[in-house]
Amino acid sequence: MNFYSTNNPKHSVSLKEAVIRGLAPDQGLYMPEKIPVLSKDFIQDLPNLSFLEIGYHVITELFGEDLTKEQIKELVDHTLTFDAPLVKVEEDVYSLELFHGPTLAFKDFGARFCSKLMSILMKGEERNVRVLVATSGDTGSAVANGFYKVPNVEVIILYPKGKVSELQEKQFTTLGENITTLEVDGVFDDCQKMVKEAFLDKELNEKMLLTSANSINIARWIPQCLYYFYAYSRLPQTDKKIAVSVPSGNFGNLGAGILAERMGLPIDVFIASTNVNKVVPNYLAGNPFITKSSMQTISNSMDVGNPSNFFRLLALYDNDEKLFREKVKGFYFEDQDTKYGMLKVKENSNYIMDPHGAVGYLGLRNFRKQNPDQFVGIFLETAHPGKFRNVVEETLGLKLELPERLEKFMKGEKKTTPLKNDFQEFKKYLLISI
Ligand SMILES: *Cc1c(COP(=O)(O)O)cnc(C)c1O
Repeated sequence: MNFYSTNNPKHSVSLKEAVIRGLAPDQGLYMPEKIPVLSKDFIQDLPNLSFLEIGYHVITELFGEDLTKEQIKELVDHTLTFDAPLVKVEEDVYSLELFHGPTLAFKDFGARFCSKLMSILMKGEERNVRVLVATSGDTGSAVANGFYKVPNVEVIILYPKGKVSELQEKQFTTLGENITTLEVDGVFDDCQKMVKEAFLDKELNEKMLLTSANSINIARWIPQCLYYFYAYSRLPQTDKKIAVSVPSGNFGNLGAGILAERMGLPIDVFIASTNVNKVVPNYLAGNPFITKSSMQTISNSMDVGNPSNFFRLLALYDNDEKLFREKVKGFYFEDQDTKYGMLKVKENSNYIMDPHGAVGYLGLRNFRKQNPDQFVGIFLETAHPGKFRNVVEETLGLKLELPERLEKFMKGEKKTTPLKNDFQEFKKYLLISI
């Protein structure tokens, strides 16, 4: 299967080129040239299949022309090493817990798939590939851990100084080896902008092989569709319609859900839930798409003012804005709403949500209020509450126990290099560190 750029449908490249480039040279996002539609039999049979079986089937439909059966098995086995349980929270409301991986956030799925696929595609190459990552928190930890000690791959992580939680920072700054971190004097969008500029810089690209592991990369983005199939497969039989709410920042996760739907998964409505960085809910309400600089919130992994997957969402609906606005509903929440949601759900259902999952829950709740009794809903719980311990403990007035693998990171020593918010400084760093 080839991949085209959202900026130019005639620019078409192989899987390897799309993964190694990350972003198309015209700054467009790569998209599969055709979206395979899965058979009705497969969809009906989903409740009888394991997560791995679902993974093999869906990935074969997508990459079966480009990878051998053995490579697909290797990829899926490496990715789906932990479960994604669907937990009932209220009548007709389920939490899809995506935080059971090594860094306790959903990005582990994409990062694990991406590192494995890159190492498969780079086999036999002489040069190392350098993965540049801008992170608002969880991407850094998932990518650092997913790529740690992967041969022929170096990872360089840019993150905004003082704007990620201590635990998130520990998860990527304490590893060392092939993982380097740069602490940028700026906000997430500044980090993302420098990374994008590096991909377009002629001199850098002549001297080194640069790629991205942000959700703009299809190797990070596409595998995220797998847990939507799995969630559907574990949902009790229902005559109601199905709504899925996705707490969103760069909108890769939601885009992967729409991809699953386009492949034939019967999801009736998606809900784009955000914090006050509400560029997409604003657009879905009928306004033009206008990016903003990001604002800091308690759901900091979603503090994104220029969501990089937006045009991918539009492309998934064949650039039909009317259809997009029909199928995706937007909601946004202030921090105080998020805290209130966390508290109410703890009181009523004894379920503890992290601030991101809580935004997803609230979007679903509001949508179901507008459409009473019609929908069964799933919200994606994208991080373990322990990752955002301070906010959760303060909001709920309790002490959280940290899972052991988080405690381990907290004991490590932070190693990082400060970087000015200036592309030329970043470029200099890249050139001297080859
Ligand atoms: C990254 C992240 C999000 C946002 O995901 P996108 O794919 O960027 O929309 C939501 N919640 C958590 C916990 C995250 O780490």
